[in-house]
Amino acid sequence: MSGEKVVVKGGLVLKPAGLFALDIAIEGEVITEVSPAIDAFGSRVIDATGCVVSTSFYDTHTHSRYPGDSEAETIDTLSEQGLLGGYQYLLAMANTEPTIDSVSIWKAVREELRKAPIEVDQAASITLGRKGERLVDFVSLVQAGASFFTDDGTGVGSTKIMYEALKMSELLGVTVAQHAQDPYLFEGASMNLGATSVRLGLIGEPEASESSMVARDIELLKATGGRLHVLHVSARESINLIRMARNEGLRISAEVTPHHLLLDDSLLCNFDTSFKVNPPLRSKSTQMAIVASAIRGDFDAIATDHAPHPYHSKQRPFSQASFGMIGLQSAFSASWTAFSEPPASPTETAIATDHWSHRVADRIGLEPYELQRLHRLLEMMGPGAARVVGRRIGIEPDMQASIVICDPTAQSVGKIEDIASNSTNFPYEGRTLRGKVVAGFVRGKEILKEGKLWF
Ligand SMILES: [Zn+2]
Repeated sequence: MSGEKVVVKGGLVLKPAGLFALDIAIEGEVITEVSPAIDAFGSRVIDATGCVVSTSFYDTHTHSRYPGDSEAETIDTLSEQGLLGGYQYLLAMANTEPTIDSVSIWKAVREELRKAPIEVDQAASITLGRKGERLVDFVSLVQAGASFFTDDGTGVGSTKIMYEALKMSELLGVTVAQHAQDPYLFEGASMNLGATSVRLGLIGEPEASESSMVARDIELLKATGGRLHVLHVSARESINLIRMARNEGLRISAEVTPHHLLLDDSLLCNFDTSFKVNPPLRSKSTQMAIVASAIRGDFDAIATDHAPHPYHSKQRPFSQASFGMIGLQSAFSASWTAFSEPPASPTETAIATDHWSHRVADRIGLEPYELQRLHRLLEMMGPGAARVVGRRIGIEPDMQASIVICDPTAQSVGKIEDIASNSTNFPYEGRTLRGKVVAGFVRGKEILKEGKLWF
């Protein structure tokens, strides 16, 4: 399509200050103009009426399962789900087989991932074999190009090792990301500690397992001056601690998953292993508090923690089944459904009562407070998540033309047949979800059209 000019017309466009009625002109790989009424003469027009136009999404937390588990996922199925979900970029975790804990493995895997039709970056582990005992060779890995380190799958239990990792982060300017979970409080647990775990007779993990490690890491961060990212926050107290640390000026970022926003532990009442995930789904009241915090702006990113597992590893007695859910393709709809649930708070309605927001919201059939929530959501899925991995993205002239068009009022029912994964551990089967990713461009190339891949 070289030389072709495309104009995306009639949508509400994501800008740092809100969603605005703007057109976008694309030529080659870049955005050439963003303004209220672009003359589309001689251009191909994409009608975005009734939709929002966002930057393409970034995922700070994907389990690619490469290398080691192509039965669960392949690079092709992963890419397909990512692109269908509106993503341009995925950050793959290091808990593969083998662990990504050396320069040679990191380079070989990255080389393979580079062939994917979606951009996949590779994290390195913090400790050798993710055993939590000895640091990886941070210096060589950073020289090779690694910039994100995590033992995700487990927390770094040793205070000494975490202190040393954050020291490395400060020294080398890289991010250390923690799966905050106390190994002792988590021992034997297969779900959240609460009324449901007691009724089912399963060992539950208290929220303090997460928040106590977040508290410890923040203390370490004060001492070292590094950069900490808290993965998949699921505990109420963790959110408060992170907010305070951020207000103190510490370099800390945090992500929340679509499933912790939308689901709670009562879903496990029939021992359904599709809802078994780590960190576990929490109580309804914590889930609602997480949504309120996300709407308020306590998180930098929405991250999928996309964790495919082959069918047999979920078809086991509950305590033995694998932890994790697939979620790349459904991330926008699941999160937007969660954001749609709580009624407007008095502060939200107060902010959103001006005439202008009513008019803009009306254009896509939303309430003004919903428009603000949608803005927050898209910020966290795009620019906010990109900042976590050190990128700046936005819908501005001269920037890469990577955009996604979403219909916020469309509804769909979750069906595993529609998901491009090799795995079936999909938690939204039969659930009505609000909002759909309908079209997308990556670097000026139209890859998604009417919800289907196109390349
Ligand atoms: Zn994790």
